[in-house]
Amino acid sequence: MSLEFEISESFAKELDGSDTLARFRQRFYIPAGKIYMDGNSLGLLSKDAEASLLRVLDEFKQLGIDGWMEGSPPWYTLAEELGRKQASLVGARPDEVVVHSSNTVNLHNLVSTFFEPGSGRNKILIDELNFPSDKYAVDSQLSLHGLDPERHRVMVKSRDGMTLQEEDIVDAMDDDVALALLPSVLYRSGQLLDIEYLTGEAHKRGIIIGFDCCHSVGAVPHSFADWDVDFAFWCNYKYMNSGPGGTASLYVNRKHFGRVPGLCGWWGYNKDKQFNMDLDFEPAGTAGAWQIGTVHLFSTAPLEGSLDIFLEAGIQNIREKSLKQTEYLMYLIDGLLSGEPYNYSIGTPREQKRRGGHVALQHDTEAIRINAALKKRGVIPDFRFPNVIRLAPIALYTSYHEIWQVVMHLREIIELKEYERFPKTRGTVA
Ligand SMILES: *Cc1c(COP(=O)(O)O)cnc(C)c1O
Repeated sequence: MSLEFEISESFAKELDGSDTLARFRQRFYIPAGKIYMDGNSLGLLSKDAEASLLRVLDEFKQLGIDGWMEGSPPWYTLAEELGRKQASLVGARPDEVVVHSSNTVNLHNLVSTFFEPGSGRNKILIDELNFPSDKYAVDSQLSLHGLDPERHRVMVKSRDGMTLQEEDIVDAMDDDVALALLPSVLYRSGQLLDIEYLTGEAHKRGIIIGFDCCHSVGAVPHSFADWDVDFAFWCNYKYMNSGPGGTASLYVNRKHFGRVPGLCGWWGYNKDKQFNMDLDFEPAGTAGAWQIGTVHLFSTAPLEGSLDIFLEAGIQNIREKSLKQTEYLMYLIDGLLSGEPYNYSIGTPREQKRRGGHVALQHDTEAIRINAALKKRGVIPDFRFPNVIRLAPIALYTSYHEIWQVVMHLREIIELKEYERFPKTRGTVA
């Protein structure tokens, strides 16, 4: 895809006019008077997600406990049902995905399943740019095995503080490493790693590999089954728009079915026999085995409506538009904001196959105050300390004209020195 853009406002409107996904915007609640650029942190509510949540609430009203079997679909197997529905978004076979719990809990369960120190391999490979929660979780998993995290954690370094080189990751895959855990898209820079390549290299070296896909699912297509990824997990409240704290998802490659999860619970039991209440655990023969306790119905239900939108729009179309929107945003930043006195720069890799759904806009001296000024002007960005403003045009609901307006705001904030009116400290939820 080679794209030609123009700077003018009328061109932005032309792009909207020929956008085949533009019709999905009306299915979302857009906060009044705002330009929402933070759908990579908390995706907006769709009418479809609202409807599926209200339906489950109503089923509860009408059916009480009978909703477990008589809900439509039955609550008892809703997590598996939504997993089947989501599988095509990530290139998984239908029984390899289940919707369960929170992302960090799923990480714990999967790492505790697949990290089996012994026979010389007793290290876990991670990277220094990953989301802190993942590092905390990995350290505690090592500690639970009686291993010192400082000695048993292999930390891949970044050369520039923003991105990772796949070759550096592969170089770190030595004979001591039992398991590698990496992000698909880096949460600050938006870099997309080459999952297929890294999986192949890990497997050549006898290493199990899993991916945290919080920042890619819903923006980028995946082919987990074809790439032979061992496991993956992601939250659904970012690009998947399932609502704050919405239930997360996990993927387990079929070749691992039958393994006993590290953290067992009755919800992972063979579903047909779960209520036999047998004291011997029999894991479900699907990714459903990695569930621990009862499905959180009200945090799960919105995902059903949300998935309908993704299946209707098509993840390939979403990716194509997302790339075009981020490219357009970077084109405007390069053209209007890169020189004096603006001094903005871009920390996201330029190649399409190396980026996810957001653009990391950098400003070395004033990012905090520019971010505050943007908010004051009705733009909802996302700040990452110390110098990154993340901007995520969301293919399902952000227009090209909004992207254009954001760039004009960024320009005026500098020209009018508007940022000087704001304090240099950041808020609690950045
Ligand atoms: C958002 C995010 C998380 C958050 O995990 P929760 O358990 O949902 O709080 C973890 N890892 C990455 C990479 C994320 O982007």
